[in-house]
This record gives sequence, C-alpha cells and structure tokens, in this order.
Amino acid sequence: MKAKLRGHHLICLNFFRGEGYSEDFIRNIYSVIEKEKIEIVYGPDDVCKECPYLKDNRCNNPEYSDEMIQHQDMEALRLLGFKPGMRIDWRMISDKLPGIIGDWKDQFCGECGYRNVCFG
Ligand code: SF4
Repeated sequence: MKAKLRGHHLICLNFFRGEGYSEDFIRNIYSVIEKEKIEIVYGPDDVCKECPYLKDNRCNNPEYSDEMIQHQDMEALRLLGFKPGMRIDWRMISDKLPGIIGDWKDQFCGECGYRNVCFG
C-alpha cells in the first residue's frame, strides 16, 4: 500500500508525535506513516483528506493560506530533490533530512504552532 503525500508532509511527518487537529486526523496520520511506499502528489493528499481545514480542495487553516502551503510544498520538493509523480519510500527521505532540515527550520518552523512538538 502506498501513501499519497504532498511536498511539505514528506518532511513534517518525520516529526509527528501523535498530535493533530482531531482524533480522526491523528488516527489517519498513523495509517499514512505505516505505509512503506509514497507517491508524491501536488495539492491535497492523504493527510489533508481527514483534515478539518480542507475545504473545496484548498487548505483553509487560519494560520496559513493555500498559497503559503503550496509554497512550502514546492520548497520541500526542491530541498529533497523530488518531484510530484515520483514514487519513493521513507528511507529516501530520512537519508536527505540531515542535510536539509536546518534550511527548512529557518524558512518555515519559526511561526509554526507545532515547532515545540517537533523540536522540543
Ligand atoms: S492544515 Fe492544510 S495542509 Fe495541513 S493537513 Fe490540513 S488541509 Fe492539509
């Protein structure tokens, strides 16, 4: 079974610690990260589909805009060297994380409400 994931979730899910927007949302993330293979998608993915902020196929989280989320996706893919449509696995991501996570944190984690969950 493969998970369909958008760019920024390829990075952020590595720091998932069982917290999220709702019980259904959290349960769904556990099922996503158990899958061995990943297909990279553009736009809403298998995490977004259980998210209370997904409306009309757009991210309506009040902390962000859909455009900001798309920018995060593109930057995550640029840093990782992946493209939508590629099929990868978690190992391919974890191999690259040490080399990119500093740049990612500098760009996106400062204002994120999950920063302390991910990095203590
Ligand atoms: S907040 Fe936005 S990007 Fe994040 S899971 Fe929900 S819909 Fe997807």
